[in-house]
Amino acid sequence: MVIPHDARENSFSFKIPILLVYALIGITLFSALVVGSSLVYSSILSRRLVHYHNALAKNREQKEVIDSFSKETQKVHAVISELVAEDNELRKLLGLKSWKTKVALSSDMDKFSGKSEKISHNLKIADLQLSEREKSLDELKSWVKTVRTRYVSTPSRWPISGRIVSRFGYRVYPWRGFHTGLDISGRYGAPVRATANGVVSFAGWKRGYGRTLMIDHGHGTSTLYAHASGLAVKSGQHIKKGQVICYVGNTGYTTGPHLHYEVRKAGRPVNPVSYLNLNILTASRIWRR
Ligand SMILES: [Zn+2]
Repeated sequence: MVIPHDARENSFSFKIPILLVYALIGITLFSALVVGSSLVYSSILSRRLVHYHNALAKNREQKEVIDSFSKETQKVHAVISELVAEDNELRKLLGLKSWKTKVALSSDMDKFSGKSEKISHNLKIADLQLSEREKSLDELKSWVKTVRTRYVSTPSRWPISGRIVSRFGYRVYPWRGFHTGLDISGRYGAPVRATANGVVSFAGWKRGYGRTLMIDHGHGTSTLYAHASGLAVKSGQHIKKGQVICYVGNTGYTTGPHLHYEVRKAGRPVNPVSYLNLNILTASRIWRR
């Protein structure tokens, strides 16, 4: 029943069916339920969406990492190939056999399904190749050591700096006969240096040679320094290449101060000129004879 505030107007009444009220309440409750549940659902959904985006970003990041790994592995392989080429070039220059490689990068990369599998395979190969190079370098190192040892034991330097006044071989002046060494001019008292590492095998007087020094360099090679005015070392002493061993003089049969220098191979005089000025690489050639 509706009663207006204005008394002049008539009041009126109408009937609302109870079913309609129930229906209205039902509809209201139902819509509230729908709105509420959709709100909850959308919040869950948006949270999931955030998760999904995060996962996507992480995935992209990992893919980038794998790609960069793959590129880096390729770079490593390029460097190794260069190293192998340089190594073989060096061996060729030194007259050594090139190192036969046992592991090579597989050309059949298709058998690997995943990129990361390929990377780990390539890294394994790189590891093997590097250990091969290490062995090759060890061989080169021991070769250099041998060459160095041979060089310091080869009478390859000049005992004094001077002019060769008499060569090795037959001569008529100042005495007719076979000259067993080189005569090198030098001022009286000038220091004479050992032409190679060795041990003094003789230090004393030799008829004709005067005051004489002999050094045993091992491997059947020895040197002799004659006409010295004085000796700087004793018999049995270990000598380094370049060490001062005696002084230029004119003892024995001489026409003036000079150094008579001999190189002996298995006790027999050889031409010292073939030993002079040998460098660290050419000195090894003498040893192959
Ligand atoms: Zn001489």
